[in-house]
Amino acid sequence: MAVTSSGGQLRADVAVVATGAWLDPLVRPFGVRVPVRAGRGSSFSVPAEGAPTRPTCLAAQKVVCTPLGEGRVRVAGMMELAPADRPVDPRRIPAIIAAARPLLRGIDWEAGTDTWVGARPCTPDGLPLIPLPACSCFGSAVPETRRGARRDNVERSHR
Ligand SMILES: Cc1cc2nc3c(=O)[nH]c(=O)nc-3n(C[C@H](O)[C@H](O)[C@H](O)COP(=O)(O)OP(=O)(O)OC[C@H]3O[C@@H](n4cnc5c(N)ncnc54)[C@H](O)[C@@H]3O)c2cc1C
Repeated sequence: MAVTSSGGQLRADVAVVATGAWLDPLVRPFGVRVPVRAGRGSSFSVPAEGAPTRPTCLAAQKVVCTPLGEGRVRVAGMMELAPADRPVDPRRIPAIIAAARPLLRGIDWEAGTDTWVGARPCTPDGLPLIPLPACSCFGSAVPETRRGARRDNVERSHR
């Protein structure tokens, strides 16, 4: 097979498609059906005095705070299944604030900036897809996405 890019054409026996949450629409025209959906998480950053100085997981609230330095902290949370490219849902940020506010002092919640949404590639069982036997010349690399630690080394030979 051959892969053509702006850098030219590359011939190989196997191609690994590693486009994360954007995998399905890319390989579907080739007849490859992959059970990967975008599990989207939202985040923003806020000025913070007395906020956690280390990455902190508010487990029950499903919110994670990451110190950014210079008096700011990034607050992230939520999980929604939606198209990978859809803009951030404005309802998500107030929901994260409502969950985290009772546990954190010294945060200026109204001064949030850098709102962002990112797409985790999610498989039904959370396991990576390596390789993908539906088509002999395509492999699909989608790592573990939801438990905070990668399990890229877990290979599945049959799906
Ligand atoms: C908010 C959030 C928090 C997370 N927290 C953690 C965590 O704590 N621990 C953890 O292990 N994981 C975490 N993840 C998940 C982790 O980020 C993903 O599992 C990982 O980035 C997936 O890697 P990937 O290389 O498969 O896909 P990605 O990193 O998504 O890379 C895919 C790349 O393919 C590109 N692409 C897409 N379509 C095309 C195309 N047609 N042509 C060319 N390029 C294309 C994209 O632009 C992108 O750069 C988190 C994800 C999010 C969104």
